[in-house]
Amino acid sequence: MSTAIVVALVLALGRLVFIYYHPFGPCRACKGKGTNRGSTKKRLGRCTRCGGTRLTQRMGSRALHKVIRGTSNAVRENKEKRRL
Ligand SMILES: [Zn+2]
Repeated sequence: MSTAIVVALVLALGRLVFIYYHPFGPCRACKGKGTNRGSTKKRLGRCTRCGGTRLTQRMGSRALHKVIRGTSNAVRENKEKRRL
């Protein structure tokens, strides 16, 4: 039972590290094509999800970066305070 919890925690941590270093992944809506279903040779319809960039931000990456940026700023502030 406890082994399962440890494995789950390690997997979750690994996922967070992966999201931190790879915040963007291929768009799932257009499968990396950047176009939607209605597009033809003459008319290119951009994918509504990624807007033609073919990339989408992974779930939670924005929040994760916000948190990490917040904590690193706090650490920097502490160091500056100590210097003064
Ligand atoms: Zn797309």
